[in-house]
Amino acid sequence: MAAQIISGTEISGQMRRELPPRVAAVQARLGRPPGLAAVLVGKDPASEVYVRNKGKACEENGLFHETLTLPESTSQSALLAKVAELNGDPRFHGILVQSPLPRQIDARAVYEAISPTKDVDCFNPYNVGKLALGEETFAPCTPKGVVEMLVRSGHSPEGKHVVVVGRSNIVGKPLVNLLVQKQKGANATVTCCHTGTPDIARHTRAADIVVVAAGRINALTADMVREGVVVIDVGINRIEDPKAPKGTRLVGDVDFAGVSAKASAISPVPGGVGPMTITMLLFNTVRAAELESGLGR
Ligand code: NAP
Repeated sequence: MAAQIISGTEISGQMRRELPPRVAAVQARLGRPPGLAAVLVGKDPASEVYVRNKGKACEENGLFHETLTLPESTSQSALLAKVAELNGDPRFHGILVQSPLPRQIDARAVYEAISPTKDVDCFNPYNVGKLALGEETFAPCTPKGVVEMLVRSGHSPEGKHVVVVGRSNIVGKPLVNLLVQKQKGANATVTCCHTGTPDIARHTRAADIVVVAAGRINALTADMVREGVVVIDVGINRIEDPKAPKGTRLVGDVDFAGVSAKASAISPVPGGVGPMTITMLLFNTVRAAELESGLGR
C-alpha cells in the first residue's frame, strides 16, 4: 500500500488557523500584536530566503515583524549591543538571530545574550537546560515541528522506538530531549545515531519511527528500514537538476522513492518539516506575547 504522506504544508495550515483568536487577544490586552525581530548578519542567500519566509508568515498571520540586516563585518560587540536593544524593545516578543553567523562572531555568546523570555528559537543555554529538565520553555522550532507532525498525523511517538539520525544542537539533540520527556506526545524510547555510530542501519531497522537530520543526501535508504516504518525527513539539500526550471531542486536526507515503498508514512521535501519550523516560530512568538500580557498562563 502507498505510504501516507505526512504533509507539513497541510499540518502547518491547520495549525495556523488556531492563531487568529490568540493574536487578537494579545492585541486587545497589549494594544499591539505579537512581534518578532529577525537579525540577519551578512548575505548568506539561504538565510535571506529563510528570514524572508519567516517575515512573510508573520505578516500573513497578523504578527508584527522586522528584519534587521547587519553587514558581514559586524563585530561581536555591535551584535551584542543590537540584541540588548531588542531585549528592551516592547514591540518584539521574540528575537531570532539567523545562523550561520560570520566567523568573528561567537554564536554561543549571542544566544546567551537573548533574553530567555524572548528566546523563541530556544537557543539560549538557560532554555536548553529547561528543555532537558522537561520544564516549560519555548520548544525549539524544528524539533517541535517534527513532534507536531507525528502527533497530528496519527503517529504519536508515545511508547514507540524513535531513532534520530543526527545530534546537532539545533535539531538532533533538542529532538531527543523533547521525545524522552515523560509527557503527552513524547514518552518515546529514543536512540540517537551520528557519525560515531558503527552500524546505523542496525538501529534504524529496529525503529518504529526514524527522524533523519544528517544534512546528507541518501543518509537513509530502503535497506536501512523495516516495512511499515514512519519516517520524518528534516534534511534540506540543493541538487543540480537540468529538468528543474532553475537547474536545481531541493531534496531531503532520505531516499524518498526507495524508503516510501516500505514506509507506512513519510514526510516529503519540500513541503515537510520546513513549513512546520516557521509555524512553530509563530506559535512561540505568540506564546511569548501571551506570557508578557498575562494571558494563557
Ligand atoms: P548539522 O549541524 O550538520 O548536523 C548533522 C548531524 O548529522 C551531525 O550530528 C552529524 O554527526 C550527523 N551526521 C552527518 N552525516 C551522517 C551520516 N551519514 N549518518 C549519521 N549521522 C550523520 O546539521 P543540522 O543543522 O542538524 O541540519 C540537518 C539537516 O536538516 C540539514 O540538511 C539542514 O539543512 C536541515 N534543517 C532543516 C530545517 C527545516 O526547517 N526543515 C531546520 C534545520 C535544519 P556528527 O555530530 O558526528 O558530526
